[in-house]
Amino acid sequence: MLQVTNPATGELIRELAVDTTESIHEKYATARAAQPTWAALPVADRCTLLRGFKARLTERCDELADLLTSETGKPLQQSLNELKGVHARIDFFLEHTARTIQTAEVLPPETNPQELLAFEPLGVIANISAWNYPYLVGVNAFIPALLTGNTVLYKPSELASLTGLAIQEMFTEAGLPEGAFTTVIGEGQTGAELLQLPIDGIYFTGSHATGVKIAAAAAPSLMRVQLELGGKDPAFVMDDVNIPAAALALADGAFYNAGQSCCAVERIYVQDRIADSFIEHFVSAARKLVLGSPTDPATTLGPLTRPAQLHVLEAQVKDALAKGAVLQTGGQRAPGPGSFFEPTVLTKVDHTMDLMTDESFGPIIGIQVVDSDTEAVQLMNDTPFGLTAAVYSQDKDRATRVLAQVNAGTAYWNCCDRVSPHLPWTGRGHSGQGSTLSTLGILAFVQPKGWHLKAEG
Ligand code: NAD
Repeated sequence: MLQVTNPATGELIRELAVDTTESIHEKYATARAAQPTWAALPVADRCTLLRGFKARLTERCDELADLLTSETGKPLQQSLNELKGVHARIDFFLEHTARTIQTAEVLPPETNPQELLAFEPLGVIANISAWNYPYLVGVNAFIPALLTGNTVLYKPSELASLTGLAIQEMFTEAGLPEGAFTTVIGEGQTGAELLQLPIDGIYFTGSHATGVKIAAAAAPSLMRVQLELGGKDPAFVMDDVNIPAAALALADGAFYNAGQSCCAVERIYVQDRIADSFIEHFVSAARKLVLGSPTDPATTLGPLTRPAQLHVLEAQVKDALAKGAVLQTGGQRAPGPGSFFEPTVLTKVDHTMDLMTDESFGPIIGIQVVDSDTEAVQLMNDTPFGLTAAVYSQDKDRATRVLAQVNAGTAYWNCCDRVSPHLPWTGRGHSGQGSTLSTLGILAFVQPKGWHLKAEG
């Protein structure tokens, strides 16, 4: 049985039956059998069914937000933000899928043979997902997968399984045929079992460590592999910024969802001339966060969803302090039940410290002073990760010059921690491979077929 606990209280919410090897095989067989019929539907019909799913997300929004908050500890307002945030993504896919995968002539029509490019679904894909934004990272994968004619075996994180079951329910209520979308419940072992099946693609969101295991397990069959992994996302604050505004924006980028975002700001570099003032404003913003029950509307910082992460954060603080860092605020878990960690800011940090090199995935950040753009670029690139990078400055040319040199899939000027359906969400190095969102995130779920059509035999 899978025990679902509330990270804010430590209380057991529910016990769920875990899928067995036998039930996983049955679900796979149903998904395989359903796929040709699902793929044969016109895209417009699949869009109609998925509009029904979207309508249910709206109707059940408050109830779903309560459920998400109960199992992840996400402050209620942030759960509501997530549920509302998926609409633009679903709309993007509904609007763009047909056009993106339509068959195209690649040579002028009088050419004989005629040459056409067509896209076909992969078949049955597995989507193994994370808990930090189960709706947002979920729809990035399973909506375009379904719209392009694949059937989906969806394994939610063990820490967001109630949400995973609710997603299954809404697809069923929307009228999707049996086998089009199927939730598989369990922990890592269940995910590993899915990869032993003859599936046609694995779309994974999670940590770098698990991503490496997924890629290795997928290698023998050469199935399509897409990995959306972690980050150690840097922000560089130049000396011409509006200091209070930049500090406030970056504190939000670092502490939203208790820092448990793949694109959370994980390290800050600030130019020496404004460092003292920036640090003062940033620390003041961190101290204003309200740590508490995620169901209290006043709360802006909830518990860590994964209690074991408390040890990672404690170890990073200890390591940084032993190497000369200065603790500006926080630094420890909060008393009482639940896995709460105080918003934590450390200065006089450097890259010998784990805090500045390993993903923290919590409400903790180091701020390092730099004296030039060159030094900032060198430090921003001193990482195996490459998800996002931000620069704050009044000078667009200077900021974009720096960002162009940073090895990351997303570049932010005067913003951070944001995702757009129109742009690819893509990591480099340890942050993953492949893209979700944008038309690239639709093409990720199809395979090309080149047609050569000669009129006479
Ligand atoms: P995780 O790697 O612990 O687990 C992710 C999923 O993999 C879960 O469903 C888990 O059950 C499953 N799993 C674990 N071991 C497995 C195995 N051997 N085979 C198959 N499946 C297995 O990650 P998490 O804690 O759920 O998520 C947090 C991580 O996800 C962070 O590193 C975060 O940065 C990253 N993330 C990345 C993105 C992105 O878009 N790049 C988005 C959200 C989260």
